[in-house]
Amino acid sequence: MIDIKTKFPQIPDRIAGLGELAYNLWWSWHPDARMLFKMLNRSAWKVSIHNPVKMLHYIDREILDSASKDPKFLRHYDAVMARFTSDMKTGAGWFYENIADPGVLPIAYFSAEYGLHHSLPFYAGGLGFLAGDFLKESSDLGVPLIAVGFMYPEGYLRQRLAPDGWQGSESATLDRENSPIYRVLDDKGDRLTVKVPVIDPPIYVEVWKVRVGRVSLYLIDTNLEINDPWNRTISSHLYIGSIEQRLRQEIVLGIGGTEVLRALGIKHSVLHLNEGHPAFAILERVRERTEGGMSYKDAIEQVRETTIFTTHTPVPAGHDVFPFSLMEKYFSSYRAALGLDHDTFFNLGINPKDPDAGFNMTAFALKMSQYHNGVSKKHGEVARHMWQSLWPDTLEEQVPITHITNGVHVPTWLEPRAELLLTRYLGPGWLSEHDNPDIWKLVYDIPDEALWKAHYWLKMKLIMRIMERARQRWHEDKADTGIILASGVMLDPNVLTLGFARRFATYKRAALILYDVELLKKMLNDMWRPVQIIFAGKAHPDDDPGKHLLQQIFNTARDPSFGGRIAFVEDYDEQLAQYLVHGVDVWLNNPVPPLEACGTSGMKASLNGIPHLSILDGWWIEGFNGNNGWAFEGADDIKDSDSIYSILEKEVVPLYYKMDGDGFPRDWVKIMKEAIVSTAPSFSARKMVKEYAMKFYQAALKSEYDNNV
Ligand SMILES: *Cc1c(COP(=O)(O)O)cnc(C)c1O
Repeated sequence: MIDIKTKFPQIPDRIAGLGELAYNLWWSWHPDARMLFKMLNRSAWKVSIHNPVKMLHYIDREILDSASKDPKFLRHYDAVMARFTSDMKTGAGWFYENIADPGVLPIAYFSAEYGLHHSLPFYAGGLGFLAGDFLKESSDLGVPLIAVGFMYPEGYLRQRLAPDGWQGSESATLDRENSPIYRVLDDKGDRLTVKVPVIDPPIYVEVWKVRVGRVSLYLIDTNLEINDPWNRTISSHLYIGSIEQRLRQEIVLGIGGTEVLRALGIKHSVLHLNEGHPAFAILERVRERTEGGMSYKDAIEQVRETTIFTTHTPVPAGHDVFPFSLMEKYFSSYRAALGLDHDTFFNLGINPKDPDAGFNMTAFALKMSQYHNGVSKKHGEVARHMWQSLWPDTLEEQVPITHITNGVHVPTWLEPRAELLLTRYLGPGWLSEHDNPDIWKLVYDIPDEALWKAHYWLKMKLIMRIMERARQRWHEDKADTGIILASGVMLDPNVLTLGFARRFATYKRAALILYDVELLKKMLNDMWRPVQIIFAGKAHPDDDPGKHLLQQIFNTARDPSFGGRIAFVEDYDEQLAQYLVHGVDVWLNNPVPPLEACGTSGMKASLNGIPHLSILDGWWIEGFNGNNGWAFEGADDIKDSDSIYSILEKEVVPLYYKMDGDGFPRDWVKIMKEAIVSTAPSFSARKMVKEYAMKFYQAALKSEYDNNV
């Protein structure tokens, strides 16, 4: 438990619930709760960068005192707290009405990254946001999830470009005292310390907790004094480059994470692995059973029947393969504890396509789980093809890897003003049924002009935000003028705006639209119908080709012949993503197919009425319906860039600038509406989590139950 009184001694009793609320990210997806903090003090809210824990630490006592006596504030406070208390009730919700009894043991969800809020920088990209959205939606649906991950004290990376556009890597140390995260203590009130079982030399971890509505997320930290210096840095940041340190990270996450749940007295029934990084958790569940006297064969069977594995990418860098020599170094005692010889143990991780490469975490997870899936229909096919050799007697179409298409957490990614507008037309209570496509048809009743005005307002908000960031960089960091010029200070709210924001992994082809620079210049600088593009995204610190792409875009952005119509905004994070997916006009996506397993930022944009212009890959193959955005088949860089230019010139630009008598593009608004109606319910985290529950959790829980009677 967290001692709120000690954390925030200055909060008067009448509004003491603010402290509880600040330490539960539930506030972040409930606009009324956000408004409550904002009402307390607008400027403190802004200065804290929308982080209530920080705000409550710094705010003047008088402000809190007067709020505790202000009838208007108190009415709002009481309403929010009532809703919060009712939403926190455990054993209630969709899951218990449809899937399992309230007595069921929790499902353990393991992931190397979580994207929950910008104040907790424990993510690099889509995998993390998927996990974060999964937890939030599980809370909403009452899925009894317990989540495990890493607390990365140095986060991912704070992006600052050098004057020549080269990305430097600065890590921003997490300010734990001012983040919605707290240390887990043991019975005696001391820091809970857990030893990673069996692994030599020993590694110790401490545990931190984040509350995500009804879901608890436990985060492992290795930065302890009793660990030797090399061990202390295991959890320092995401996706460490050295293969050995990466292996140690994954040992700590899977094996240490399972031990952490044990130390907390949390028994779990089912294990869900989000990507292969935490897959050693499987071994630890097997070891637990063999240690209890079960045969290895039975233990494997029980664990397999209750394990779910989601693979997230066909890109090789997403699948860790550890050399056997390294595996032997760390696992010799461990495999002995399992009673396995060297070959039997290594065999668990062999990819038959490349048996000498080492221990493949994806192959291992696939062999050791009963339920496995890709993250879109297309990715399911790709994964069946990739891993067919694990089922040599099975036809590719029948390889038992299915798919569940990703979705985004609607209350998180829908802009609050857009939410208000929808509530007006969809009716109160629509949000609780937002995976029902029929409800969304009422979007057609929203007056075109009202939707356009709301969009224009959000576009202004985005541009103002970008300018304010530039001003701060100029004033506070004395940033180089080239960086300021490239960062969007010449953006114009009346110009058609494309958004391209994602990790700068090369397969995402950030610079594809620069393929024909002369043609692009003409389009951007068109006197009557200009176009502008906003780019954002980070390259992985070890990815030099990605950094080159970024530099190319930066150089284009500050080249006067592009007329200030290209912007590169530094430090893409959750907050900037929110502004972008709410405020640009078109969301651009052009990876090399079929490498984008799903993609989720386009879903966030579409949900807010921002149509997707995308190559047919990932979710867009399922999402595109001919009227809700634009699509093209992938071929090669030349043809694909041609497709984009041609769609822009023939369709997007003319439609955007075709104003009707009332001075706004009515036909464009039709596409915006179609984007919302056709994608919001089907690509929601609600639909996704329900699908996991119905396809996997229910059956796995039944196996668990059968094993125990
Ligand atoms: C949604 C999101 C992503 C994932 O986007 P993709 O389209 O899957 O590349 C990455 N980063 C941030 C900040 C996001 O919000």
